[in-house]
Amino acid sequence: MTDKRSFRRRDFVKLLGLVAAAAALPYVASTTRRPVFWGNPFQLGVASGSPDATGFVLWTRLLSEQLTDQDVVVEWELFDAAQPDQVVRQGQAVALAALAHSVHVELDGLKANHWYHYRFRVAGYQSPLGRARTLPAVGEAVSSIRLAYASCQRYEDGYFTAYRHMREQQPDLVCFVGDYIYEYRSRAGAPRPHSLRRIRNLNDYRARYALYKSDPDLQAMHAACPWLITWDDHEVENNYFGQQSTEGRGDISKLRAAAYQAFYEHMPLRSSSLIAGIEGLLKHGSLQLYQALDIGKLARLYLIDNRQYRAAPYCGESPSDGVAAVCADAKSYRTMLGEVQEQWLEQAMLSTQAKQASWHVVVQQTRFTPANYHVGALRNMSRDSWDGYPEARARLLHLFQQSDHENLVVLGGDIHQNWVAKVHADPYNKESKVLGTEFTGTSISSQSRATEAGMRRHLSRNPHLLYANAEYRGYGLVEIQQNKTEVTLFAVEEIANPESAVSVLARFAVPAGKPAALQQL
Ligand code: FE
Ligand code: CA
Repeated sequence: MTDKRSFRRRDFVKLLGLVAAAAALPYVASTTRRPVFWGNPFQLGVASGSPDATGFVLWTRLLSEQLTDQDVVVEWELFDAAQPDQVVRQGQAVALAALAHSVHVELDGLKANHWYHYRFRVAGYQSPLGRARTLPAVGEAVSSIRLAYASCQRYEDGYFTAYRHMREQQPDLVCFVGDYIYEYRSRAGAPRPHSLRRIRNLNDYRARYALYKSDPDLQAMHAACPWLITWDDHEVENNYFGQQSTEGRGDISKLRAAAYQAFYEHMPLRSSSLIAGIEGLLKHGSLQLYQALDIGKLARLYLIDNRQYRAAPYCGESPSDGVAAVCADAKSYRTMLGEVQEQWLEQAMLSTQAKQASWHVVVQQTRFTPANYHVGALRNMSRDSWDGYPEARARLLHLFQQSDHENLVVLGGDIHQNWVAKVHADPYNKESKVLGTEFTGTSISSQSRATEAGMRRHLSRNPHLLYANAEYRGYGLVEIQQNKTEVTLFAVEEIANPESAVSVLARFAVPAGKPAALQQL
C-alpha cells in the first residue's frame, strides 16, 4: 500500500510539475504569446463541479482556429452571488495546449452553503457567466436539497430540451450518471445528424465533446450549478469493461487512455482525480471519479464508477451474447467496482461521519435491481448491468444492510427508460427487507427500443418494480428533506423538436425510515 501511494504521488507530481511550471507566471510570460482571436474562444461555455463545503472546480476550454501548440494564460474572476458586482477572488490559470486548452481552477476557502458567480477572460473576450455553489458545512442542519439526475445524451437522437427545463427547476446540483457522449457515426435519418466519424483517437474524442458542448441548453445547464459526474461505457466504447472491448477489439487500453484524457479535459474534475497524471492514463485505475459528498447532516452522496474497474460479466465476455441457461462460473468472484473502490465505499458508508447523515444517495450508472425477478440472474437480461455481477451486487446489498442506514436511494441510468424499484436485501425474494429505493433515469435524448407492452410485462412480472416507462426522454428531480424524499420524473414530449414542451410524467415519495412505503403520488 505504501509503495503504491508513493508511486502515485511521484507520477502525480509529474502532472503537477507541468501545471505548476506553466502557472508560475514569470515563466509563462516568456513562453506564452499574447494570443489574438478572431472570435470569442469561449465557445464551449463554462462549468463547475466536484463541490464541497469550501470550494469547487471551475472549468472552461478555449476553442479557436487561432490556437497553436502554445499555452495560453486565462484570467478568472469569482463574485459573491449576494453582491454580484463585487469580485471576491481572481487569478490566472493556464490553458495547456497539451490538454486541448482546457482550464481547471480549483477553489477552496470559500463560504459554506453559498452561491457564487464566475467568469473567464482572455484577449479582450469574456466567457458566459457561470453560477456555482459550495455545499453546506459537514454537520450543518439543512432543510432540503434539490438534485437533478440525467444520463445518455446521444446528440443525433434529439435535442437537449430536458436541460432547458431542468434549469428552470433550479437544482443545487446535477448528478450525471453516464453516456455524456456516444462514439458512433450519426445514423441515417437521425433527428439531429452530425458528420463526425466513429471515434478512433484523442482528436476524435475532443471533437465529439466539442460538438456536444456546442449545444446551448447543455451549456446553460452547466453554467447554472455544479455537476457531479460519473461515466458509463459510451465515453469510451459500447459495453467495455476494464480495459477490454466487447466489440472484438480486445485490449483497448490505448483508446481508453485517449477517452479518459478527453473526459478530464472536458469535465470540471479535480487534478487529483488523475491518479498517475496524464502520462499514467494507460494504467489500471488511472482516473478516479468515486468520491463521497456531504450535504450538511441531511445527506451523503456516494459517486460510484462501476465501469472502469469491472471484470467481464459472467457467462462470456460479451454482455449481448445469448445467455446460456447454466453458467459454470455463476458463483465466481466478478467485481463491478474493483476491490479498492469497494473497500473505499465500505469505509465511506460505515464511517462515523456517514452515521450523521439522514439520507444516503448512491449515484452510479447502471440498473442495480434485477431486470427479471423470476429467472434469477441467468436469462433475458443485460449482463452489462448489475445483473451480470450478482456476487458483487450481493456484497453491496450486504454493505447496505450492515450500514443500517434507514434512508437509501440509488440513482442510475443506462437503459433509456424510467424505472422505479424497491431495493430488497435479497433481490430475488420479495419478502426480504426493503433497504432502499432505486430510481433509474431515462435518457436526455438517446432512443429507447423498448415498447410500452414490454414495460407492462416487466411491471406485471417484477414485484420489486413500482413503475416503468420507456416512452419518454427526460430527467428526474430529487428533493431530499428530513422527513421524506420526493422524486419527479419529467418527460420531453417531442425529442426531435427543440421547442418541445416538457411535462411531469410521474411523482414519487419515500417517507424517511420507511423505504417499503415508497408510493406514486
Ligand atoms: Fe446510453
Ligand atoms: Ca450505457
